[in-house]
Amino acid sequence: MSATLIDGKALAAKVRAEVAAEVARLGAVGLATVLVGDDPASHVYINLKQKAAQAVGIDAQDVRLPVETSEEELLALIADLNADDAVDGILVQLPLPEQLDEAKTIDAIDPAKDVDGIHPVNAGLLYLGRPALVPATPLGVMRMLEEYEIELSGAHAVVVGRSAIVGKPVAQLLLQANATVTVCHSRTRDLRRHTLDADVLVAAVGQPHMISADMVKAGGTVIDVGLTRTDEGLLGDVDPRAAERAAFITPVPGGVGPMTIAMVLGNTVTAAKKRLANPVH
Ligand code: NAP
Repeated sequence: MSATLIDGKALAAKVRAEVAAEVARLGAVGLATVLVGDDPASHVYINLKQKAAQAVGIDAQDVRLPVETSEEELLALIADLNADDAVDGILVQLPLPEQLDEAKTIDAIDPAKDVDGIHPVNAGLLYLGRPALVPATPLGVMRMLEEYEIELSGAHAVVVGRSAIVGKPVAQLLLQANATVTVCHSRTRDLRRHTLDADVLVAAVGQPHMISADMVKAGGTVIDVGLTRTDEGLLGDVDPRAAERAAFITPVPGGVGPMTIAMVLGNTVTAAKKRLANPVH
């Protein structure tokens, strides 16, 4: 048996086209990205987000601050963006230089403009089953499962990884889709026992090929969020030979990766629609 490959690239293009149509319908949608310092990887990510936002017609403001920016300066900028009606979404690129407190920075963003879905209010709403703005990668995972009509109700979903931006929110979304969810992490005993029982396995660890083919349930669905840059190129958390056992699997690259930016753009439209429906939020 060879698994059907879940084509994240094609699906991301479809999502971007949907977003472009919504932006055209709404008239004006604004996104501000904030980059502090000169981390090369962060520059690449911000450039990609800016390009993707402009391509769907979003007015993208590209704010770049020097590495020595103080907390007061950053918080003042966020307050200005919060108050600016032309800005629907705010993205602060992490990590921040060491003098800046990430939690304080995230807390300062208006939850209604938090298109990364990382503000405690948005995380709390997700936990309560009232999702508002949800982190983009978990949203992308759910959209892939939906598009390929993977049955979630009553299925056993196993999430490996419990970060605030991937593992925990994806586990919440799977639970809300009526899956029975197991969350594994670095202290989990006998990981294989759990993964082998997964109708849907979501790997979000960051250790290349740590899930071997024989840890995957025959006929299951495998979503590989992991992305590690190595001398052999970008590698996921799952050994690609798992395709010989699974029914559906995401490739790396070309799986979850392309979905993330597309879903951030989708979140910006969600925020704009909420603003238009309720101008005071
Ligand atoms: P993270 O914050 O480093 O979290 C990694 C998680 O993996 C932690 O919960 C950790 O457990 C768990 N873990 C570590 N070793 C383990 C082991 N041996 N067995 C089981 N669990 C283990 O990473 P993240 O931000 O969630 O990202 C995870 C991966 O996804 C990375 O490769 C990242 O690059 C990738 N990613 C991709 C996208 C995309 O767009 N495709 C987006 C975001 C992230 P503890 O909590 O116990 O430490």
